[in-house]
Amino acid sequence: MKTFDHYDAHSLDEALGLLANRCGKARINAGGTDLLGLLKDGVLPRYPELIVNIKTIPGLGYIEEDGERLRIGALARLCELAGSKLLRERYAVLCEAAGAVAGPQIRNVATVGGNLCQDVRCWYYRYPAHLGGTMECARKGRGPCFAIKGDNRYHAILGGRKCFAVCPSDLAVAFAALGGQMTIVSPRGERKIAVGDFYSPLGNGLADDEIVKEIDVAKAFGPGRQRFLKFTVRKPIDFAIVSVAAVTEEKNGVFANARIAIGGVAPGPFRAEKAEEKLIGKKPSEALAAEAAEAAVEGARPLSKNGWKIEVAKALITRVIGS
Ligand SMILES: Cc1cc2nc3c(=O)[nH]c(=O)nc-3n(C[C@H](O)[C@H](O)[C@H](O)COP(=O)(O)OP(=O)(O)OC[C@H]3O[C@@H](n4cnc5c(N)ncnc54)[C@H](O)[C@@H]3O)c2cc1C
Repeated sequence: MKTFDHYDAHSLDEALGLLANRCGKARINAGGTDLLGLLKDGVLPRYPELIVNIKTIPGLGYIEEDGERLRIGALARLCELAGSKLLRERYAVLCEAAGAVAGPQIRNVATVGGNLCQDVRCWYYRYPAHLGGTMECARKGRGPCFAIKGDNRYHAILGGRKCFAVCPSDLAVAFAALGGQMTIVSPRGERKIAVGDFYSPLGNGLADDEIVKEIDVAKAFGPGRQRFLKFTVRKPIDFAIVSVAAVTEEKNGVFANARIAIGGVAPGPFRAEKAEEKLIGKKPSEALAAEAAEAAVEGARPLSKNGWKIEVAKALITRVIGS
């Protein structure tokens, strides 16, 4: 690992000042479970001169309901989400998604902000520099996307462009189904962005001088059902090959509301709006769930080796909606 300066920030303003002063040469560290691996393997196109530790900022680890909204501070840890009584009772999809991330050791230190901002897991992008040199790819701004002609079995089937890596965050999928909004701060003030709009094929929507402060969610419509399901290759600790988060509400025996997001298939969580439309006004049944699953993946354009992800996505949606 190359050397870098390290600074413990004690307020958001202090952290923002440090990022602004280093003009793109500083990087935020929260739990460090993603960032430190990237630094060790020399993956990042610009190696940071300064690491700003934000875990020393007090008061950013809350999980609370405030009137009509759930508010989660960027430093809330995944184990806290997974173990939260409030989430289990009212935002189960988020609780289940947090509990499905990695293993207990990582969940004990990883934060919500870090989970949403973590880098992609594409094996070409992450190829360690010490094993024969960095692979310069489209995501690093200087090369092709090697997955297009290479081993793309885990890459995007929807929405890929220039880069076909998928968003690895389980929480992003749950937040997208809940309509979560991120509050991002910078020296220019605060802005909000929907979690579903935060990602693009070449990276997330965060400028060098911005920090995620909070994620908030409007109270889920009525007393409905919420579920998160994830398909992985290895069972105990693994990233999603495909995941599905669904938040539905039934009235008078029919679906009145439905929000479904799919993970592991696109550069960000993919809102399956066509599937949602299929459900509204209809009685839950296995046949309807299968119909919604077909609609969800309409328009998928798999690469040479990942057409099977379409079948996995359909199976998960059928299970989430039908059972
Ligand atoms: C073995 C293993 C298995 C894993 N399995 C899963 C899995 O199944 N599902 C899943 O979702 N994830 C998985 N992960 C990824 C893990 O969840 C993330 O590494 C973790 O959530 C990142 O959180 P952190 O606080 O450690 O982030 P850090 O490593 O500190 O930061 C990650 C990135 O986010 C940036 N960042 C952090 N906080 C902020 C902020 N508030 N504002 C702006 N930028 C910020 C950092 O600069 C860095 O670029 C796994 C990781 C490992 C090592």
